[in-house]
Amino acid sequence: MNLETDIDFPTFEPGSIWLVGAGPGAPGLMTLLGYHALLTADVVVFDALVNSAVLDWARPEAVKEFAGKRGGKPSAKQRDISERLVELAKQGHKVVRLKGGDPFVFGRGGEECEALKAANIPFRVVPGISAGIGGLAYAGIPITHRTTNHVVTFLTGHDSSGSVPDQIDWQALAKSSPVIVLYMALKHLGKIAERLIKHGRDPDEPLAIVSNASLPNQVVLRTTLGRVGETLEQNEIAVPAISIIGPVVDFCEVLEWYKGHVKDNDIG
Ligand code: SAH
Repeated sequence: MNLETDIDFPTFEPGSIWLVGAGPGAPGLMTLLGYHALLTADVVVFDALVNSAVLDWARPEAVKEFAGKRGGKPSAKQRDISERLVELAKQGHKVVRLKGGDPFVFGRGGEECEALKAANIPFRVVPGISAGIGGLAYAGIPITHRTTNHVVTFLTGHDSSGSVPDQIDWQALAKSSPVIVLYMALKHLGKIAERLIKHGRDPDEPLAIVSNASLPNQVVLRTTLGRVGETLEQNEIAVPAISIIGPVVDFCEVLEWYKGHVKDNDIG
């Protein structure tokens, strides 16, 4: 079977934008639609977390533009990115906006689509595997398990000003969600853990920090809610890192499968 000739992909119209999720890191975790979009694009506007191996799949003539945002920068930069996307589409290019993970999960994909809609630019969203689901799977952590939890919560560790998010009802969260997945939380993880303990969570609850999930340099660090502050002080943790609190963390003892499978140039 030949992917490009045997599959009836939707047409990538000139002057349109496809927001594509690249997945958490391993190139093989991109969807077929995303792969097709990359092979077809004239311009690829990519973020910091996108694996460069994936960019190599684009046509040699395709222009690759870096548009990453690096933590804590003001939102003016986001406006620049949206304006650039509109400009490229108006020039008649087929534009792939390539984002790490899923474009609509803590990735400002919604904001970019709003800007495209306002400018009457046709767009499509190609979802990706989010770090808080697929990245954790590479650490052997299922985010739900029938024996432990029926609820999982995803949260960002900081708001747009860089502080611990205030809009969160920490008490309700502590009570209602046995499993909590935290994106962009390394900086405030100690404070977040203190809040959760203050609102009744057991300091002995397991917590894992997974950096470079799904990549050959993946590291899984296990600690507890009560000890995480100390763990952060004692270990240098590479970014990006995703954290997870709750009983499902313990499954990685048995289910950890990725280590040892890693080969050079492996796409998964
Ligand atoms: N849209 C992305 C999230 C963007 S926010 C998604 O759906 O995954 C960026 C955060 O994602 C990082 O701070 C980190 O918490 C998490 N992240 C992304 N890639 C990761 C990876 N390979 N390993 C660990 N965490 C990752």
